[in-house]
Amino acid sequence: MAGEKGNGQANGARSAPALCEACEVELVTITMTVDGSDLVMESCQRCDERRWHLAGERIDLQRALTEVGEHAGRRR
Ligand SMILES: [Zn+2]
Repeated sequence: MAGEKGNGQANGARSAPALCEACEVELVTITMTVDGSDLVMESCQRCDERRWHLAGERIDLQRALTEVGEHAGRRR
């Protein structure tokens, strides 16, 4: 936790779950920490679609897998 970056996003607000842009079903959200950044997977069970965000930025699946793959290999 090295200071706030102030990207305009409200962190820690768990009141309103994210909804799917397509069908407005509540998304299943899984957050993991990769190299100090939040990697978030949002999954819509109806569309069977997954969206990935890294540190608040939308990324594609390939990028997500790359991030996870690079850092999963590290042992601390
Ligand atoms: Zn959906």
